Amino acid sequence: VSLSISPVKNSEGKIIGGAKIARDISEQKLAERQKDEFISMASHELKTPITSLKGFTQVLLRRFKQQNNEDAIRLLARMNRQIDRIIRLINEMLDVSIIETGQLEYHKEVFALDALVQEIVETVQEATLTHQIIIEHQESVQVFGDKDRFGQVIINLLANAIKYSPHANQITVRVEIDSDEKNAIVRVHDFGLGIAKVHQQKIFQRFYRVGEQKNQTLTGLGIGLYICEEIVKRHDGNITVESEEEKGSTFSVMLPIARELEKKTM
Ligand code: ADP
Repeated sequence: VSLSISPVKNSEGKIIGGAKIARDISEQKLAERQKDEFISMASHELKTPITSLKGFTQVLLRRFKQQNNEDAIRLLARMNRQIDRIIRLINEMLDVSIIETGQLEYHKEVFALDALVQEIVETVQEATLTHQIIIEHQESVQVFGDKDRFGQVIINLLANAIKYSPHANQITVRVEIDSDEKNAIVRVHDFGLGIAKVHQQKIFQRFYRVGEQKNQTLTGLGIGLYICEEIVKRHDGNITVESEEEKGSTFSVMLPIARELEKKTM
């Protein structure tokens, strides 16, 4: 990139800076806008065909079940799981374009966070042959928020924990209550590649991926954590990471515990 430096003056003609940075930022912004536009278009285009594919596999699955055709059932079930992965990706792409142009919609209710975590761990475990997901500790706690969106956050953290620990096979999950009893905390811990300090804050930015980890098996769009942070922030919570390279990472999601008032209004 060729960068020029020319002085920038204020209305009185006083030099207040250089144009180099301004141009640098606008180029980055333009690139991001183009990526956003492409993602929005591509995700809308992909949604319809993949949804009908999913429908067809389900019709076939029902038919083969009637015929007790084990081979076909097994293959179709695998197909179904891959289709679900694609649908999740497309939905993430759609989420990003919604966040960039407006706001995601939230349907809030009071619900048991521990029960949701349990349910999601079971679902993810069922689809995972490589890793064992252990719930180490679980406090029973209610929060006020969009259950599906929280589910999406936890699925994302588990999927990352699995993806970024190719040489370890355990993931641990905890649901805690912080010492002042105001917040619930979900922690997802892996023993994988870890994240160097310089990258730790940046991974929540959209499209950001850690360079050194990039290889053919660890691909991604770099939007999962960006969406997670957006969802958690809209619930007055926060998401943080503690990590050491080659040792592993812990992602912690903190959410306010449902107050009495919210419980009564439900
Ligand atoms: P993606 O996984 O599609 O790249 P994310 O937004 O989910 O996008 O994550 C951004 C980046 O953060 C990843 O590319 C990866 O470098 C890093 N990362 C996320 N979770 C983990 C983890 N559990 N262990 C190590 N690195 C991680």
